[in-house]
Amino acid sequence: MSSWFEAYKGEISRELENEVLKIALERFSATYWSKRNAAIKNLPYYNYYRKRAREIKTWSIEHIDELIKMTKENIESLGGTFYLARNAEDAVKHVTKICEERNAKLAVKAKSMVTEEISLNEALIKKGIEVVETDLGEWIIQLRNEKPSHIIYPAIHLTTEEVARTFSKTLNSEVPPDATKLVRIAREKLREKFVKADIGISGANVIAADTGTVLLIENEGNIRFSTNAPPTHICISGMEKIVPTVEDAVLISRVITPNATGQLMPVYISLITGPSRTADIELKLTLGVHGPKEYHMVLLDNGRSKMMEDPDFKEASYCIRCGACLSDCPVYREIGGIVWSHKYMGGIGAIWTTFTHGLDKAAPLALTCTTCGRCKAICPMEIDTPTMILKIREKLLKAGLTPPQLISIAENIKTYGNPFGALR
Ligand code: SF4
Repeated sequence: MSSWFEAYKGEISRELENEVLKIALERFSATYWSKRNAAIKNLPYYNYYRKRAREIKTWSIEHIDELIKMTKENIESLGGTFYLARNAEDAVKHVTKICEERNAKLAVKAKSMVTEEISLNEALIKKGIEVVETDLGEWIIQLRNEKPSHIIYPAIHLTTEEVARTFSKTLNSEVPPDATKLVRIAREKLREKFVKADIGISGANVIAADTGTVLLIENEGNIRFSTNAPPTHICISGMEKIVPTVEDAVLISRVITPNATGQLMPVYISLITGPSRTADIELKLTLGVHGPKEYHMVLLDNGRSKMMEDPDFKEASYCIRCGACLSDCPVYREIGGIVWSHKYMGGIGAIWTTFTHGLDKAAPLALTCTTCGRCKAICPMEIDTPTMILKIREKLLKAGLTPPQLISIAENIKTYGNPFGALR
């Protein structure tokens, strides 16, 4: 049942020896913390925002059915479609159907962990649809055929030099390790994709039920292109992202931004409320002007309603996916998020994985966490991840999913006061 353990130990050992990862994470920590702390210090009312954000999320999870109904009605009244997907397969099937019915050849994507969760890219590619990630970090890892290592910074495990090597290989010409030049290349390569794409796929940072509005936070401008240039926009989001009002959504964005990227405000916040429209000619409503003619929202359950109903784990659905806990985690800072993830990474990822992909997939994540509590201390939503990790471990033990090696270490500590056993 726990045959994964030795292989996993080997992967962790390799990551500990990974010099590129080490340098990349050191550079990340050096910049991220000074920016994040300065943003929080300079953001008036930050403590009010984060406490209010927790109240909003607590209320929203208690009233989720009502909020889903309101969101659906509002999106449909705007000429969009709404689909509640019970699981990953259901969501993928629905999105694939939308793409196939439009004979789509190319989809551009904004960064979305939910599409990672349901393995959407793989499914669309199998159907012959070209899928292009447009967030720079996501594009880099797509070129490398890797998975994201952080929910905010998908390519944070790579140094500038490593990204230059990837671009050189892809372009078959030497590219210098210069961030400005690398960004310029990405801009040139991706620009035509936005214009040619049949479908734009995005996630959502927050959804406002009172208007059916999706709030999307970004700095690059790729989300605006992906959700605006193609004729069809599909927004895929976890159901826990819904809050009652647009004002609530904006307030939550004020908490996400400093914690995610160390800014007071991101460069862009997009508020999307249905398909593009005009009534400029005799007030006749016509959909699809410069933006998409079609707008589809796919709201994903995939274990979330079970999480929300479980008093031991409900709190995990308050997570606003800011990534601060990963960035401050002592384990993450050593091994990063490639090995320490299934789809979601780190301690909070262990809780999410339990509900979205199953206890067996969450086992390596939960058992790697040291339960040191730094994530709880840094979390703007005050989510008690360490206590939930201990509860996952109880479940693992009951399900026979704890590796015997760890059981014997625990027994040695109990009996002999050390992990090794009887001392000679
Ligand atoms: S658990 Fe807290 S710190 Fe971590 S991503 Fe969620 S909201 Fe942010």
